[in-house]
Amino acid sequence: MLQQEQLKSKLLDYMSTIRLSGYESRMAYKFKGDLSAYADQVKIDKMGNVIGTIEGTDSEAPSVMVFAHMDVIGFVISCIEPDGFLRFDRVGGISEKIVQGKAVVVGSEMGEYYPGIIAAKSYHGQTPEDKSKVDSFNSLFVDIGARSVKEVNDLGIFVGCPITFAPYYAELLNDRIAGAYLDDATGLTNLLQIAAVLSDDRPRCTVHLVGTVMEEFNARGAMMAARTVKTDMAICLLSPGAGDTPDQKSVNNIVLGGGPGVTMFNFHGKGTLNGNIVHQGMYQLLKKTAEEQGIPLQRCAARGALSDTAYLQLENEGIPCLDMGTPDRYSHSPMEICDLKDLEMVGLLVAAFLNSVDRNFNLNRY
Ligand SMILES: [Zn+2]
Repeated sequence: MLQQEQLKSKLLDYMSTIRLSGYESRMAYKFKGDLSAYADQVKIDKMGNVIGTIEGTDSEAPSVMVFAHMDVIGFVISCIEPDGFLRFDRVGGISEKIVQGKAVVVGSEMGEYYPGIIAAKSYHGQTPEDKSKVDSFNSLFVDIGARSVKEVNDLGIFVGCPITFAPYYAELLNDRIAGAYLDDATGLTNLLQIAAVLSDDRPRCTVHLVGTVMEEFNARGAMMAARTVKTDMAICLLSPGAGDTPDQKSVNNIVLGGGPGVTMFNFHGKGTLNGNIVHQGMYQLLKKTAEEQGIPLQRCAARGALSDTAYLQLENEGIPCLDMGTPDRYSHSPMEICDLKDLEMVGLLVAAFLNSVDRNFNLNRY
C-alpha cells in the first residue's frame, strides 16, 4: 500500500510532467512504467491510452474500468510573427483572464520543450481602460526570446506545436498542494494507489486501470479504451470543484479535507447536450463501502461540466458510470489546490469498492 508521503511524491512527479492533449507520450510511458510494478499486464492502445489490467478471481463478476486522464489544458501555435513572437489559441477550457504574465513551455516537432512567457502589456504602457480590460486570445502572444521566424523554426517550432503552462507546485499548510495539472494528476496517482492495493488483495472482478488521452480536447479517450477492454462498468476519477472559497460559497457543499467527492449529476449544454446521471447501483455500493470504511463522502451536482463518462456510457449496450475524485480549487488555472488527505481517501475508497463488486452486482439502472 502506498503511504501519504509516497502518494505526494508521485503526485508531484505527475504534476511536473508536460503533457498537452494529443501530446501525452511522456506521461504515457512514465505511467506505463509505474503501473507495471503492480498490474498483470500493461499496454498502450492505438489512441495512446495506458491500460493496466488486474485479473479478478471470479470470471462471472462484472469487469470495471477505472480511469483518469493523462492530458492537460494548454495552447497551440496559430501564427509566428516575423520578429519571432508566437500567436496561439487555446486547447481546452482556459479563461483569457488568467494567462498573461504566466510561464509556459513551447514544444518542438522533435518533442523538446523551451521556456517562454505569455506576454503581459507593460504597466507603464497601459491606458486607464487597458488596466481593467481582459485581452482576447487573438491579441496575446508568447515570447521565447527569439528575434526571427528562422530562429523559431531552427528549434523545430512551427504552427501547430504545443504550448502548456510551465509545471509548478508548492506544498502549502494543512497537507495542501498547489500547482498546475492537479487535473488530473490526482486521478493518475489514485490509479497507482489502487493498483498497489489490489495487487496485494486481489478483487473478484477484473479491473482495468486506464490513463486516458485527450479529455481536455474531446472527452472521448476513455470511450476508445472501453472498446478495447470491453468493460461492464466504469469509474472516472476526476476532481469535483470545491465550493469552500469566498467566490464559490453556495455553489456547492464540497470542502477541501472533507473526503472524496462523488458527482451525482453533471451536464454540459453548450452544443454538447451530454453529461452523466450517476448509476444508482454503483452509487449505493460506493455509499455503503464508504460507511464501512469510515470515509466521508461529499456529493456534487453541477451544470456546465462533463467528463468522458458522457460518451463512455453510450458504448456497447450501455456502460454504468460514476464520476468521483479529489476535490480541487481553482480548476483549469495554473494554480489549483487539493488536500492530500482527500487524495488518499479517494484511492482507499475506490479500492474497497472494487473489492466489494461480485457476480451479484446488478448492472441495470433499475
Ligand atoms: Zn480539466
